Amino acid sequence: MTSTWIEPASTATALLLLGRGTDPASERGVDCPGDLPAPSDPDLVARATAAKAALGNRVFVLGHHYQRDEVIQFADVTGDSFKLAQQAAARPDAEFILFCGVHFMAESADILTTPDQKVILPDLAAGCSMADMAVLGQVETAWERFEDLGITGEIVPVTYMNSSADIKGFVGRNKGVVCTSSNAKRALDWSFEQGSKVFFLPDQHLGRNTAVLEMGFDLDDCVLYDPHKPGGGLTDEQLRNARMILWRGHCSVHGRFTLDSVREVRERVPGVNVLVHPECRHDVVRAADFVGSTEYIIRALDAAEPGSSWAVGTELNLVRRMALAHPDKQIMFLDRAVCYCSTMNRIDLPHLVWALEELVAGRVPNQISVDPDTAHHARVALDQMLALP
Ligand code: SF4
Repeated sequence: MTSTWIEPASTATALLLLGRGTDPASERGVDCPGDLPAPSDPDLVARATAAKAALGNRVFVLGHHYQRDEVIQFADVTGDSFKLAQQAAARPDAEFILFCGVHFMAESADILTTPDQKVILPDLAAGCSMADMAVLGQVETAWERFEDLGITGEIVPVTYMNSSADIKGFVGRNKGVVCTSSNAKRALDWSFEQGSKVFFLPDQHLGRNTAVLEMGFDLDDCVLYDPHKPGGGLTDEQLRNARMILWRGHCSVHGRFTLDSVREVRERVPGVNVLVHPECRHDVVRAADFVGSTEYIIRALDAAEPGSSWAVGTELNLVRRMALAHPDKQIMFLDRAVCYCSTMNRIDLPHLVWALEELVAGRVPNQISVDPDTAHHARVALDQMLALP
């Protein structure tokens, strides 16, 4: 059997998943304009090749799985955010770490590399809408509310890797831990040994899915803290009774998949395996056959039986790449309409060429630098993650 990749249909629908059009404020800068990015000038491939060769071992290029093919071809290593952070830390000899990913990842790389190394993000506009949903001032306001209630002694803050260095620093200062989608359960197990409540930032879905589906909590054990509402929109009693206080943040890409997407693909493709990322909404994850991190998704598709069918709920660049790499399996995007991570896609070949050629010319463009105090505390929370049993 040879399967043919079918590109999802274009859509001009803005991504307003949680609010379904009622909450545009939480989706600033993120939309799905309806077309895949225009292909870059093929001549740029030769320029990128030449500049990278000129830099040799001085530069180490990291490529996140959600990056465009035209960029990923120049990556020395590909991975999810955690693997790339580890890889950055494992290359102390590279003068420049060129991070083809988004801002919070480059910050983590800067925290984990030596002071002499320089981390570069080819386009400073490559942010992450989820990370942007938790701003330090908002989080400190929430913590003050918890202090007023006298419950901070019971709370362990946990932040997903997909958060700013400021938020990781806050978590480190308050004896918490960073987690990834691969180790979220281990991080929560550890946290509930330290306290009786967790304050989970910024992805409500990863927090809820892990607590309910992997740890046996009830949905009622989880409350949603909305930074845009007075007091987070929660009563004192709700906060006192909660086991999981979830921040009201989400991924604008994974939040796009709905229960209807799952039902529709099951009707259309009998026997299909539905495989989703835990950043998807709770009802979607419940309805799926398999759930796991980006690395898990890649391993599952690599190991799948020839002839099997898979509807995958994660970023489009990765799903397309996996489908083309496995023509003996039917791999499709879970949603019928196109959606990629628009901020990840800001890193294109022109930006990569520009960054490489600047380095060749002796200039350091778009260096990402975390201030030492924030970096110190963020590192405490990252090291606690690395020390998880
Ligand atoms: S896929 Fe979601 S979580 Fe990942 S960078 Fe894009 S918006 Fe952020």
